[in-house]
Amino acid sequence: MTEKTNLIAGVTGDWEIVIGLEVHAQVTSDAKLFSGAATTFGAEPNTQVSLVDAAMPGMLPVINWKCVEQAVRTGLGLKAQINRYSVFDRKNYFYPDLPQGYQISQYLQPIVGEGEIEIDLEGGAVKTVGIERLHLEQDAGKSLHDQHPDLSFVDLNRSGVALMEIVSRPDMHSAGEAQAYVKKLRAILRYLGTCDGNMEQGSMRADVNVSVRKPGDELGTRCEIKNVNSIRFIGQAIEHEARRQIDVIEDGGKINQETRLFDPKRGETRSMRSKEEAHDYRYFPDPDLLPLTFSAEFVDDIARTLPELPDDKKKRFMDDYGLSAYDAGVLVSEAENADFFELAAKGRDAKATANMVIGSVFAGLNKAGLTIADSPVQAEQVGQLVDLISDQTISSRIAKDVFDLMFDEGSDQGRDPSDIVEEKGLKQVTDTGAIEAAVDAVIAANPDKVEQAKAKPKMAGWFVGQVMQSTGGKANPQAVNQLVLAKLGIEDQ
Ligand code: ADP
Ligand code: MG
Repeated sequence: MTEKTNLIAGVTGDWEIVIGLEVHAQVTSDAKLFSGAATTFGAEPNTQVSLVDAAMPGMLPVINWKCVEQAVRTGLGLKAQINRYSVFDRKNYFYPDLPQGYQISQYLQPIVGEGEIEIDLEGGAVKTVGIERLHLEQDAGKSLHDQHPDLSFVDLNRSGVALMEIVSRPDMHSAGEAQAYVKKLRAILRYLGTCDGNMEQGSMRADVNVSVRKPGDELGTRCEIKNVNSIRFIGQAIEHEARRQIDVIEDGGKINQETRLFDPKRGETRSMRSKEEAHDYRYFPDPDLLPLTFSAEFVDDIARTLPELPDDKKKRFMDDYGLSAYDAGVLVSEAENADFFELAAKGRDAKATANMVIGSVFAGLNKAGLTIADSPVQAEQVGQLVDLISDQTISSRIAKDVFDLMFDEGSDQGRDPSDIVEEKGLKQVTDTGAIEAAVDAVIAANPDKVEQAKAKPKMAGWFVGQVMQSTGGKANPQAVNQLVLAKLGIEDQ
């Protein structure tokens, strides 16, 4: 991607957008960060609240080591510095759904320092986005305003759930780059098993910082758009916000650093409050918790269990299977999808299998709103279908029909392709006698077209089409083509 495509035109010339993201990712763990209460999504309100989460006087937080492990694991996946000494701080503020009156977070000494993420841009280009830090913190509860005409309720199930806040450098310059970043970050977290990445359930949400400047200038004043919870909304929020800032500046105004909200219904951002500064929170080390320390062996043990991550898998798919960067990128976006492909491709033409997995399986799942785990067609069956094409039992056109029968709801759903082909008589006709008869019939029925084709050899395609139709698509297309040309006396070009 060239620099130019990242600029947006204004009245006073081109502007560059600058974006930095703070992503809140809910740690995958059975219990909360400082209590043993459960974290299951969708439980009845206030059924997963320990005395610690409700901030009863005298309760003491106790660190859940599973959450520490998950943060270290994520740091390793982001190729980041792991800090074996870090500190939990109190971030003081009042909110009805924050019973402690403060959030336990990490400020000056986070558990994970600088790292990086490679993002995939359109056209196969890659770009590195810097990670500034990752820290552990507690989530707050949830206020419910829509349950009663004049009362609000508080659900503390989420209170105390572990979050990782992952802060990027202001390295992104378009909505597309920010979206690619979130997609890649989500893929890495899912591969690692440290966050389920379900944005619609709120397990991953982003604060989007946006500023604009003239290329080469110092960074402009930023606005922070809070809690954007889908990749599409992140794109819309950035585009709207950048445009708004450019208009303000070009009208002679100044950007105030502030916190804004994105309204998905209107597709615009609006002011929520002027930006608070760190000193407003009066951060100080939580006296109930010792600094968090662990050994190098603790880190090494986790490092040994790291899975192959998306970038490495993508590279391996390109090297070992000869796939394009695009195909490999699509296949590795979810670990389960990549596994499905590898199972299907085992011992077969990988390129043909990739085409079938992407073009038929993924397309079908997408349309039906299913994930790979619910696919009616199994990986091995996709492989069998590829085999039926490569040994010329069926043409690729018929294979599409067979796939639909295997995939769509109906009596053939989930059946083996060879059974369907056998039972429905879909085998490709390679018997030249039969094909010849079909060609002869079409030629005999269309003497005028035969004359035209002799003058204009391209017309032969019409005969091929007619024969394919009269044989129900089962004739071997190459054989038909050769016979048509021979019978019409046209030289093969
Ligand atoms: P805070 O914690 O107060 O929000 P930080 O300095 O930690 O402030 O920055 C938060 C995020 O804002 C980071 O992701 C950073 O990359 C981004 N950011 C900082 N300055 C700018 C800027 N001028 N334009 C866009 N993003 C920025
Ligand atoms: Mg912030």
